[in-house]
Amino acid sequence: MSSNAKWQDRWDAVMARNYGTPPLALVSGSGCRVQDADGREYLDLLAGIAVNALGHAHPAVVAAVSEQVGRIAHTSNLYVNERAVELAERLVRILGVDGTRVFLCNDGTTANEAAVKTVLRARPSRRRFVAAEHSFHGRSLGALALTGKEAARAPFGPFGIEVTHIPYGDADALAAAVDDQTAAVVLEPTLGEAGVVPPPDGYLQTARAICDANGALLVIDEIQSGIGRTGAWFAHQRDGIVPDVVTLAKGLGGGLPIGACLATGTTADALQKGDHGSTFGGNPVACAAALAVLDTIEKEHLLDHVVDLGSRWSQQLTNAGVGVRGRGLWLALLVADGLAPAIETAARDAGFLVNATGPDAVRLAPPLVLTEAEATSFADALPSILDAAAGAISVGGVNADANSGGTRP
Ligand SMILES: *Cc1c(COP(=O)(O)O)cnc(C)c1O
Repeated sequence: MSSNAKWQDRWDAVMARNYGTPPLALVSGSGCRVQDADGREYLDLLAGIAVNALGHAHPAVVAAVSEQVGRIAHTSNLYVNERAVELAERLVRILGVDGTRVFLCNDGTTANEAAVKTVLRARPSRRRFVAAEHSFHGRSLGALALTGKEAARAPFGPFGIEVTHIPYGDADALAAAVDDQTAAVVLEPTLGEAGVVPPPDGYLQTARAICDANGALLVIDEIQSGIGRTGAWFAHQRDGIVPDVVTLAKGLGGGLPIGACLATGTTADALQKGDHGSTFGGNPVACAAALAVLDTIEKEHLLDHVVDLGSRWSQQLTNAGVGVRGRGLWLALLVADGLAPAIETAARDAGFLVNATGPDAVRLAPPLVLTEAEATSFADALPSILDAAAGAISVGGVNADANSGGTRP
């Protein structure tokens, strides 16, 4: 029995059943390469779902985390921790909006919970939110209320906030849903979990204008799109808008768990003493990792790298015979309906980790340090991966690999 299979058995026996059994155990990594429990190597084109921004075991992250854990690992929020202040200052600088205030937390869902409470404090007489169908905002109850997946919400509602879900990218539907009772509109700059779906040009600007006309706040969920993923620090910066609230997590900690909720303008002062808190939020070790991530992105000019490599890669993948959407190092391959899970499996067999977000889309969200040679190696392998996937489907049926595709973080 392989080591991977042994780990799968142990997982099955003890882990909660909320995830399907993973196909592999990953035990180590370096740069964009990871190794499984049987010693097989893969090119990681998913980065732990857009998390390992600098790849695996990046020396800057290893050094920052090791230094900090050896100095002081936790202070609680009853005391200042230096790394949290430095990180908050840094986030405000890259957001580019003076007067912004930062709440640090542990992950994406807690960033969005903080956003919901910030909105409710800033618009105390309003309780209604507007969010997008097929959006993903997290799994805890406030964030889940916003998440635009009926199947994920239904068993757990009703929620403490009322949310209207509208088709993503449809400005008229948004305008029709927002009124003087709307506390906030919550949007991803591009849908991530739904398969890297960008909105039409101008959508975020229109959303900003609709919010302003109705006194509603605009919350932009940059948890997957932020920290360089699209080649800008924040995806919304390309649209020239200033959100009232921005949430961050995934790529921020370079693999360590951290989230952030940034509030701008008058919304910055909405949360008052006693309104919110987190024991671990802004933990010094996680903040040290995030500072190392931001430093490295700056020093190694990774934003430019993401733009350049992303557009070349997108072209190479298109040439290999698939549709491609997305920008920067955040792309989806658009494939025949039902084929995506088989492509995920065939890619893994060929030594590449990718992710079927649904039946017809395969997500690529590699480390931002992906090299040209690594990117090209996948584009070169893609035609034979597509053939293998098509072959597997004709032999085993569309659902031959029940563990692949459609799982959500
Ligand atoms: C992943 C994700 C979340 C939830 O983050 P968790 O850390 O899994 O709680 C929220 N919003 C978006 C856009 C995400 O991609």
